[in-house]
Amino acid sequence: MTAPTKPAEAVQLDYLHRLQQYLDVVDQSIPHSIGFPASVDFDYSALYPFFGYMLNNVGDPYDEDPLYLAHTKPFEQEVITFFADLFRLPQDDRWGYVTNGGSEGNLYALYLARELHSKARLYYSDAAHYSVDKAASMLRLPVSKVCATSTGEMDYDDLQRQLAKHSTKPAIVVATIGTTMTEARDNVATIKTQLEASKVPAYYIHSDAALAGIPSAFLEPHLPFDIADGADSISISGHKFIGSPIPSGLVLTRKSLHGRVSRDGMYTGAADTTISGSRNGHAPLFMWYAIKRWGLEGFRRRALDSMQLATYACERIQNAGHDAWRNPHAMSVIFKTPHDSIVRTWQLATHDGWSHIICMPGITRAQIDAFVADLTAKS
Ligand SMILES: *Cc1c(COP(=O)(O)O)cnc(C)c1O
Repeated sequence: MTAPTKPAEAVQLDYLHRLQQYLDVVDQSIPHSIGFPASVDFDYSALYPFFGYMLNNVGDPYDEDPLYLAHTKPFEQEVITFFADLFRLPQDDRWGYVTNGGSEGNLYALYLARELHSKARLYYSDAAHYSVDKAASMLRLPVSKVCATSTGEMDYDDLQRQLAKHSTKPAIVVATIGTTMTEARDNVATIKTQLEASKVPAYYIHSDAALAGIPSAFLEPHLPFDIADGADSISISGHKFIGSPIPSGLVLTRKSLHGRVSRDGMYTGAADTTISGSRNGHAPLFMWYAIKRWGLEGFRRRALDSMQLATYACERIQNAGHDAWRNPHAMSVIFKTPHDSIVRTWQLATHDGWSHIICMPGITRAQIDAFVADLTAKS
């Protein structure tokens, strides 16, 4: 006996129904999503037709095969140029590519640094992102962890002590621009001064600016974090401040550094100079579209609005009787971890008895007010 089968249309309705249900779940979580660093003020519907096509930016963004057109490398190159200007790479000495995210940017940068300085030791603070640990382990880099201060910034005296212990080895230092928990910014100029003062034979600085790189570019007075300040490479995430429906990122470095590695024969004849080989061709379109939509002034306004909303949120939470603070210019507000139901409802990232919200572009005062009302009701 054969089991009765469902008519094909019924099966189809089943799975379309499942998708609709899940779409509702995702959609309903949005008003409470103030704990994660993702901008929500985007509308990329102009790009939807591109989802009818496979787009693969395989290999180097500047290597275009005239016979292969299923890519978006011209757009990727414009994205690189825009951010190379923002992060002050020299006009004639810049290279980079659109990654799968900030983590891949860190992995690429540390890979490049290790190829340039084969005996190097890696230094980064306790507050750095876990992707730095992961990259260090994948690359088998010896590591010295540096203490972070109570605000989450690198303790530069401790960096000096750690460097002194291994002063015969080249040093790779990761500066975090916007640490995960408190959005602290490490100072690239101070790190460079410490490296110069130490006896290390060579050094490389990577700026992990996944969260706060773009807002940092608009701060006055300027806080040292970018290439002109002394970093050799910088990486950001595309789905955080910029806003993107899929995870993405960007890594930038000097073309001369990147070129030194490829001339050393690290790469084969094919110009695959990236970590992943086949690369997402849609991701650069989102970044490009955001650049066209916002422009430099739009990015500046969104950054300042976010910082202003964070000032407001911090005051409201304090006035409601809670212990709250934020780092200067941060979009994040940190406070004592509230009742568990609030942590769950508002998807709060929590660590060591502290939680945070992040006032990313698109988050509204009304959401902050609703959160504070909830906090007041349940404390
Ligand atoms: C988010 C973040 C990362 C990782 O970026 P992904 O895009 O999630 O891979 C790395 N470093 C810092 C400081 C971050 O905030």
